[in-house]
Amino acid sequence: MPHEHSDAAFTRAKKIFPGGVNSPARACRSVGADPVFAARGEGAYVIDIDGNRYLDYVGAFGPMILGHGRAEVLDAMRAQLTQGLSFGMPTELESALGALVVQSIPSIERLRLVSSGTEATMSALRLARGATGRSKIIKLEGCYHGHVDNLLVKAGSGAMTLGQPDSAGVPSSTARETLVCGYNDLPAMEHLFEAHPGEIAAVILEPVVGNMGVVPPEAGYLQGVVAMCKKHGALSIFDEVMTGFRVGLGGAQSRYHVKPDITCLGKIIGGGMPIGAYGASSELMATIAPEGPVYQAGTNSGNPVSVAAGIATLTILARGDVYERLEHLGKALEGGLNEALAATGVPGTVQRVGSMITLFFTEQMGAPVRRLEDVPASAKERFGRFFRAMRERGQMLPPSQYEAWFISNAHTDDDIGSTIVAARQALCEI
Ligand code: PMP
Repeated sequence: MPHEHSDAAFTRAKKIFPGGVNSPARACRSVGADPVFAARGEGAYVIDIDGNRYLDYVGAFGPMILGHGRAEVLDAMRAQLTQGLSFGMPTELESALGALVVQSIPSIERLRLVSSGTEATMSALRLARGATGRSKIIKLEGCYHGHVDNLLVKAGSGAMTLGQPDSAGVPSSTARETLVCGYNDLPAMEHLFEAHPGEIAAVILEPVVGNMGVVPPEAGYLQGVVAMCKKHGALSIFDEVMTGFRVGLGGAQSRYHVKPDITCLGKIIGGGMPIGAYGASSELMATIAPEGPVYQAGTNSGNPVSVAAGIATLTILARGDVYERLEHLGKALEGGLNEALAATGVPGTVQRVGSMITLFFTEQMGAPVRRLEDVPASAKERFGRFFRAMRERGQMLPPSQYEAWFISNAHTDDDIGSTIVAARQALCEI
């Protein structure tokens, strides 16, 4: 594949942006590649500025569940564009999106719209601290919740990929407020609660982890976390920025029948436009200004164009058979990847929840990844070679072992078939 235009664009971009990018994972460093620059998206495909076409499993890191350029979403945005881009006054559209969220996500009675997932988790922490009068937070190793100071401690995803699970620039006094334990490990969490009685405001977690690759919660784990929080007077925060409207209309909390105190959303609820949200019971949300003492605000919060894209997206998701279709496609991809591993003898494990899927390069065939330490150090290099071999075959995977691949509703059975064929060849090659 020719990459001249992307290579030249990257050289120029590096003079302007750190690493040539506006979010580190996009630089593709951990997979030993240079990025290709996107020109446009068409359904399940992205086309780069050299004219190469790729089947897209990045999906903008989650939002593009309907694929690129879905007509209803673009029409809704166009209709709003002619009315105005931003007002600093409330609009009815915001309530329409809010109502769709409240209808779908069991634990949310009221919510606040913000502009990114990072803002959602940051605000959720402030709410939890304001409501409990406590300051410490428990987060889980390998979960990523955006670049909030308190949450850049043993973080997953891009931070992990760069070998920076802990960021420079986070004051040690701030990092000390964050306690960390492993995912799927209730005894370790209980131990933290016992060691810090009356100090812990909240536990925040990804109810299905996407940011260390896909790691599902074990049976009873999420219920155990919620019950433990209740017992110790802390609040449970489910960060569903990735899983909300992805693993089902009601997010992971519906899929696993569990109700957290606070839920964070982002990505899909903006249909590809910048957005975030956090919500809880009506009573807990009364803690937020102007009703209550916890301040939180934003010039771009509830931006009408983002909200219009979000409404169109959630409306399609609510009425159709999208999730059954995604389950079917996900199952086919999972089966095909497992066969490819078996046929080539490359040791690996495929983990999937709905349309989120990861192929982990493990040391033993089929060894489960239950928490971060189950991903061997060798996986990164292996995944890098696999990523490059797949990209050369027109398959765009997220550029890290620690990311979920996203299937969209624009993907077809034939698309999935092409990925399985490519994966078999790529596994042979590496
Ligand atoms: N939480 C989770 C679970 C995420 O996956 C992400 C982003 N990948 C965030 C929070 C942060 O969202 P944003 O990048 O919109 O700030």
